[in-house]
Amino acid sequence: MIESFIQVNGYRVKVYSLNTVIVGSGAAGLNAADRLYSYGQKDIAIVTEDIRGGTSRNTGSDKQTYYKLTLSGNEPDSVKELAETLFAGQCVDGDLALCEAALSAECFFRLVELGVPFPRSRYGEFVGYKTDHDPKRRATSAGPYTSKFMTECLEKAVKQKNIRIFDRHQVIKILARDGKAYGLLCLDLENIDDPNKRYVAFNCKNIIYATGGPAGIYADSVYPEGHYGATGIAFEAGVIGKNLTEWQYGLASIKPRWNVSGTYMQVLPTFISTDQNGYDEREFLNEFFTNKGDMLTKIFLKGYQWPFDVRKVENGSSIIDILVYIERCIKGRRVFLDFRRNPGGGEIDFSILAPEAREYLERAGATFGTPIDRLMHMNPLAVSFYKEHGVDLKEEPLEIALCAQHNNGGLSVDMWWQTNVEGFFAVGEVSGTHGVYRPGGSALNAGQVGSMRAAQYIAAKRNGDPVDVEEFSRAIGETMIAAVSMGEALLKGPENNVDEIWKDVTQKMSRVGAAIRDIEGIKEMIKDIKCKLDNFIGIARISTARQLAKAFRLYDILICQYVYLSAMANYIENGGKSRGSALYTDKNGTCPYEGLPEIFKYTLDDGSKADVIQEVLFKDGECTFNWRKVREIPEEDDFFENVWRGFRENGNIY
Ligand SMILES: Cc1cc2nc3c(=O)[nH]c(=O)nc-3n(C[C@H](O)[C@H](O)[C@H](O)COP(=O)(O)OP(=O)(O)OC[C@H]3O[C@@H](n4cnc5c(N)ncnc54)[C@H](O)[C@@H]3O)c2cc1C
Repeated sequence: MIESFIQVNGYRVKVYSLNTVIVGSGAAGLNAADRLYSYGQKDIAIVTEDIRGGTSRNTGSDKQTYYKLTLSGNEPDSVKELAETLFAGQCVDGDLALCEAALSAECFFRLVELGVPFPRSRYGEFVGYKTDHDPKRRATSAGPYTSKFMTECLEKAVKQKNIRIFDRHQVIKILARDGKAYGLLCLDLENIDDPNKRYVAFNCKNIIYATGGPAGIYADSVYPEGHYGATGIAFEAGVIGKNLTEWQYGLASIKPRWNVSGTYMQVLPTFISTDQNGYDEREFLNEFFTNKGDMLTKIFLKGYQWPFDVRKVENGSSIIDILVYIERCIKGRRVFLDFRRNPGGGEIDFSILAPEAREYLERAGATFGTPIDRLMHMNPLAVSFYKEHGVDLKEEPLEIALCAQHNNGGLSVDMWWQTNVEGFFAVGEVSGTHGVYRPGGSALNAGQVGSMRAAQYIAAKRNGDPVDVEEFSRAIGETMIAAVSMGEALLKGPENNVDEIWKDVTQKMSRVGAAIRDIEGIKEMIKDIKCKLDNFIGIARISTARQLAKAFRLYDILICQYVYLSAMANYIENGGKSRGSALYTDKNGTCPYEGLPEIFKYTLDDGSKADVIQEVLFKDGECTFNWRKVREIPEEDDFFENVWRGFRENGNIY
């Protein structure tokens, strides 16, 4: 790594020149760095806004799942079968599914060797369980904090190799030109007050972008606090997005952010809503359901049917998500789970539950008392979790919302996780390798596989130094000047209105472009965001340099919202119907229940778009779309001697 300085708009900017920069220190970014070093490319560094930040490090769930090839028992499994399961999620590229299947065991064992405590039997079998969209029992878990353990073990490995980590560096611009990546411009968050240290540039041949899901676009989110992603600036640099319409939303508490899945629902809490000040309490589910047994059964089922699934609205548990959405997003009320009393008050008559729910609770010995009594009986750790995070479920209700949890789509990549911008690789959740549905746990597998593939490719094919600093300045000098000038213009103050704009646009996004999507609302918001983007410097104001980080982030969020909303509008205009975790209002559709507002009229997708992928390019402030067929799962000559010859003679796996 070579250090030098350049002048940008009168600012002295330090430039680090090196082969590869990895952006992000989640499970995907850390693995990319660790692998790249092991493969022999040591001229690398990690750039991260916060080494302790991100989703992998700070999130979890009841039993956080890792999906992998079957590694136990007598149930047959194969790379091809796993690839087919991933491919069956709809709108998935087959080559990526095959890679994620083929490298699954290798990535999993690496984590085991690094110390992630995945449970195994006394004979060494990594016994699995069945997760959603899983025809086998391929899932495993190291407990509620699987991804946290992964980052801890990977960080240790990275530190043992003395890989340089630029912590507290926020990437604000991807420096690319003519379809080629040149580097990055960052804010040094520790030196933000010093104009001559504030900006830092990286001149590199390769970027492995591992910035996670674009959580910042939503207000109602179960992504960890402080995690925003940075997909918008990748679009700005010309990186193509794919399957952006495909997300997972579900019920989660908002303080702390945590999925209220599993036992939290199976113990049948009471759903209440209040006005913004906590008054006018109502048990809104009671007002909707005419049959109490049906209501209790649907609450119960929400426990293991966690993500909102539009196929489960009619006669299914996803109606609960909709009712929560109506209270919060349409009526503007707050919604809580109260574990201190049973729905409707008094005792529960468990005989009115459907057999599936009743028998489960009977077997668990939990047909007594109040929800908190049952929760203490079935899963006391679920109670202590909230206690540790400042909410005593025995004393107070828990505020919830229908929250964004995972983006199945993202940046479009090839089979080495390189994007259409040469030298720019996208790995982990920021890349979009999943489709409409995916097996639970496959996100963590995909992050490990993608980061390994990118590292392999760079080590084999993209060695060497970046361009010299003069050429770097020539190529992307104007882009840097534009970014620095934007920062200066924002700093004009006197007051800061970034938080206000942020709150407004993220709340709107949760109402308009999340689980419930209505073309009118989407179009209106696109117009509003476009106006904000086009006049960003005129609209946004900050009063101190410390607020630059948030202002640049807001800019990223606005681009991202614009592109995601445009993708939703384009999907609808192309005849797209409700699928996955999204209900698209269709005035000609049917309303699943009498009395629901018009926006809940919808038509279920018939699967006719399952083999086509929507891609989007953001250029000169506009989005252009391309619908293409999925790439099928490759069927290649797998005769060993032939594969070996190819591999031996010229390493032609690349
Ligand atoms: C509540 C919840 C439960 C989940 N449960 C599961 C599960 O059971 N199984 C499963 O497979 N998946 C699950 N997921 C999804 C999974 O956890 C994530 O997809 C995965 O952890 C993402 O890892 P990542 O490395 O891609 O990104 P992250 O871990 O989010 O890391 C992103 C990194 O990028 C950095 N960064 C971002 N922007 C910038 C910038 N501009 N400049 C510098 N650095 C930046 C961040 O600081 C961070 O270090 C869950 C997610 C949530 C929210």
